Amino acid sequence: MKLDSDGILLGLRPINERDSVAYIFTREYGMLSGVMRGAVVAKKNRPLVGQVGAASWNARLDTQLGAFHWEPAENVGARLMLDMRKLAFMNAAFALLCALLPEREQYTNLYDLTISMLRDLDGTDSQSVYMNWEIALLHDLGFALDLTHCAQCGRVDNLNYLSPKTGRAVCDDCAAPYVKKLYKLPINLDTTLHFIVAVCAQMGIDTPTARLYLARL
Ligand SMILES: [Zn+2]
Repeated sequence: MKLDSDGILLGLRPINERDSVAYIFTREYGMLSGVMRGAVVAKKNRPLVGQVGAASWNARLDTQLGAFHWEPAENVGARLMLDMRKLAFMNAAFALLCALLPEREQYTNLYDLTISMLRDLDGTDSQSVYMNWEIALLHDLGFALDLTHCAQCGRVDNLNYLSPKTGRAVCDDCAAPYVKKLYKLPINLDTTLHFIVAVCAQMGIDTPTARLYLARL
């Protein structure tokens, strides 16, 4: 079996002195993992986290851990390395994708958004760029936040609260009786973290530390 696709190199874990297991988010097949031979010792075309390129994944059996051939085209992450906070956003995004996406399930929209996010992180408002990506991630995992109208009365103004249970906005009037139980809008990274933690708990995994530490930067 052979799978070819554009992809983003999200992670590399050495398994011996020469080889690593690589985690690649591909446009066509979603998350793929496989051995990248010589990744640790490569002098030329060294695979690096944050590269975008062409992945070719091969396995004799469908259930086997396959092997990658990787042709990097661009190191999108390299530009972010000079700014600790931007790098932290990239690392958090990669950790979340590795932890939350099932293998070989297509997420084309999320892939395209991740590519845009990596490019846009280089701009001035990296926090909003990252947060909007995280909202899209939650959406694609089935936990859409709805900030467009009040969940109870439907009005579209005075939306200053968010229900932690439903992820839907609540207006001032409807919020009044139980305001202490609600999150205050506008949404921020602490708000999205709450939903990320809930998603991870539901999947039975720990929230990646790269995301938890983000709040402290
Ligand atoms: Zn309302």
